[in-house]
Amino acid sequence: MTLSSSPRAFDHAVVRDVEAEATTNARIGPYLRRNDRAVRETPQAQLRLLRRWERDRDRLRSRVRADPEQLADWRLERLRALVDSAYATVPFYRDLYRAAGFEPGAVVTMADFEQLPTVSKKTLVDAGVGDRLRAEHEGIRTLHTARTSGSSGLNMTVYQDNASVDFRVMVNLRHCELLLGSEMRPEDWRYSIYFAAERFSSLAGSYPFLTISQDTPTDLVLRHLSEVRPRVVLSFPSYLQRLAAEGVALDRFGVELISTNSERSTVQERRHYSEVFGVPVLDEYSSEEMTLIAYECPQRRYHLVEDNSYVEVARPDDQGFGPLVSTSLGNFLMPFIRYDQGDVVRLDTTGARCGCGSTFRMIDAFRGREDEALLDGPNRTVPSDAVLGLCDSTLVVVDSNVQQYQIVQTAPDLVTVLVRLIDPARGSDNPRVREFTDGMPKLFRHQRMRVEVVEVDEFPTFVSGKRRLVNVEPGARA
Ligand SMILES: [Zn+2]
Repeated sequence: MTLSSSPRAFDHAVVRDVEAEATTNARIGPYLRRNDRAVRETPQAQLRLLRRWERDRDRLRSRVRADPEQLADWRLERLRALVDSAYATVPFYRDLYRAAGFEPGAVVTMADFEQLPTVSKKTLVDAGVGDRLRAEHEGIRTLHTARTSGSSGLNMTVYQDNASVDFRVMVNLRHCELLLGSEMRPEDWRYSIYFAAERFSSLAGSYPFLTISQDTPTDLVLRHLSEVRPRVVLSFPSYLQRLAAEGVALDRFGVELISTNSERSTVQERRHYSEVFGVPVLDEYSSEEMTLIAYECPQRRYHLVEDNSYVEVARPDDQGFGPLVSTSLGNFLMPFIRYDQGDVVRLDTTGARCGCGSTFRMIDAFRGREDEALLDGPNRTVPSDAVLGLCDSTLVVVDSNVQQYQIVQTAPDLVTVLVRLIDPARGSDNPRVREFTDGMPKLFRHQRMRVEVVEVDEFPTFVSGKRRLVNVEPGARA
């Protein structure tokens, strides 16, 4: 099967129909994720992105190997501009910085910047930053939205403008190049196994990007990979676990790289998958707020993506571990400045250069990001991508009236979902929540499961700021 390619689709002012091209057999259709975002991709937007990529890619590529001092100068300029912009355009930051004694222009050095107060998802949500931003900018500029609970279970909508989205797309393309160790070619497909389609299915026909559901049967994915022949596969680690059980190498289908995302996995797991699939399996560390934070290079070290976000480790303990506080350098519309997202890491402070050639600093170790897996009978667990997928289409959606949630397995046959509601008066009995309570038992194959919803006013705040999305109580292990 060959795929017809129409890289000059823009000439006819239509978007290349990547999904139609990738419908290579009768079974795959229902599993293709189509872009249903409020902001549609247009030929003009795709062409804009392609032109930006073609113009800026060499600069982006060289930044990875830049002299750290030059990079620091560039970053300081960017941080100053970001802080002043936030002060001018976002009342939340203006009030916060004013209270801390900062005036516009007060950030002169990095030391000044590091005196600014930190923020968290909770402080941004409680202050209604997103709602206000939407009200002020709707109709004035293109607002791209993504709603996420991340690993904290607290829902938030992240807003981006075109400039921010364009930067993100370019950083993601370079990301593939860094993991591949070579340049992406316009004809190379990226193939993602995920909840939602990418914003752009191609750049004016080049760099096609396809997304399929994590519910796709593994035998069908193998067949589809042999037909589409993507160069890069992006996947949840838990999907790779199922795919690896098929014992089929992927290099024979033209795959050169698998990049994992969204869940933690160990280096031992990724090495194992690399052996099974016959291609490198490397990780990315990212969040909806920051986009890419770090990538695992071919030498299996985690480099910070230093031109995409600026990372600090606040208040490190005697072993060097502390909360990761990061600042997005790409999003000026909804700024995340000194944002504590609840992860605890240790940076490599040896000053050693990595053999891959990148001069970006490295994360030495992560602590405690692992979520627990729901127990399906005494010896089995529910795949975490299935749980995350169900949440993403139900409790994360605004219609669910859920602001924050946590899934607790309290007994072998009982899952309790704790929810804090956006509007308590409307309650939790609605179609989205029912989709969740109906869908959850179907994820269990060996255990008959009951699901109860409990409304709570507040979730406890932990010192680390971190709470497990899925919690298995000792009583569930009976
Ligand atoms: Zn490296």
